[in-house]
Amino acid sequence: MTRANPAIVDLIGSTPLIRLHGPSERTGCEILGKAEFLNPGGSVKDRTALGIIREAERSGALKPGGVIVEGTAGNTGIGLALVGGALGYGVVIVMPTTQSAEKKQALMALGCEVIEVDPAPFSSENHFVHTSRRLAQKLNETEPYGAIWANQFDNPANKGVHAATTGVEIWDQTEGKIDAFICAAGTGGTIAGVSEALRARKDDIIIGLADPAGASLYSYYTTGTLASEGSSITEGIGVGRITGQLDNLKVDHAFRILDEDFLPVLFDLVTEEGLSLGGSAGVNVTGAIELAKTLGPGKTIVTMLCDSGSRYAGRLYNPDYLQARGLPTPPWRSISRASGLIG
Ligand code: PMP
Repeated sequence: MTRANPAIVDLIGSTPLIRLHGPSERTGCEILGKAEFLNPGGSVKDRTALGIIREAERSGALKPGGVIVEGTAGNTGIGLALVGGALGYGVVIVMPTTQSAEKKQALMALGCEVIEVDPAPFSSENHFVHTSRRLAQKLNETEPYGAIWANQFDNPANKGVHAATTGVEIWDQTEGKIDAFICAAGTGGTIAGVSEALRARKDDIIIGLADPAGASLYSYYTTGTLASEGSSITEGIGVGRITGQLDNLKVDHAFRILDEDFLPVLFDLVTEEGLSLGGSAGVNVTGAIELAKTLGPGKTIVTMLCDSGSRYAGRLYNPDYLQARGLPTPPWRSISRASGLIG
């Protein structure tokens, strides 16, 4: 019996581009969201996982039956576990204890080993990324078919797969009628790769960065210095350094997006569009709205809908969690109570 089903990886990418009616009508721009939550692993990071694995196979670093190790906030791990399962590789994920229970459960349901470590600054050897690197080195010595470190923050295959797929798809789906692209950065692979593909086709394309509080890129792209302010409940986005993905990226407009600003936009997407999305999508759509206000009406702006709300049900859509932090809560009203039949 074979231990793989490569047909699963064919489901990655080629996601729809959806017009977001509320944000478009309020700004007079066409605001379009790339529905990455429809990837089989549920997020944009399926693309990164596949890109990194295919490149490691091509270079010979990853051998049949080998093991893939990564330090990840969750979605890249889910993508690696999915692609690893489909192609017959073992997967070990190192993640900080701060990440949502839903993402950890998804990883375990995909059959990969999850190692949780206490949060530590990137400068500490105990940071989850450094722990994953050391573990990969060790497993490469002890595993019969070796092990690789996916290294999504600095591996060029991450940006490369977004240039080759996400960016090209956006260009084709808009038929070249696109004025601007904006998203947040986790590793920076998406923004850098998509920018590369779009700039190659239209040299005056406008690239925007939506940065959550607590991250350092807003400051970097507006003042030239990495510096952060505040904190955010978002996951998977917000970096404090110029990663390998971000090297040489030119950003035309940067916005700092606060939790209290993106949450109402996220809730509107549920009630106005039927889209329940993760926090990074909320930051991205809020960034697209800010960019629309900056550029003025009539522009076509594309952003990323990275993953779905179900991955964060206990946080972003949990009134108790939000209230405890003084943040806006979902405005849903009880329809049945108004009938008087339900108490
Ligand atoms: N949104 C979510 C939910 C993510 O998990 C990530 C990746 N960590 C991103 C956005 C950012 O993508 P990238 O790493 O390509 O910058």
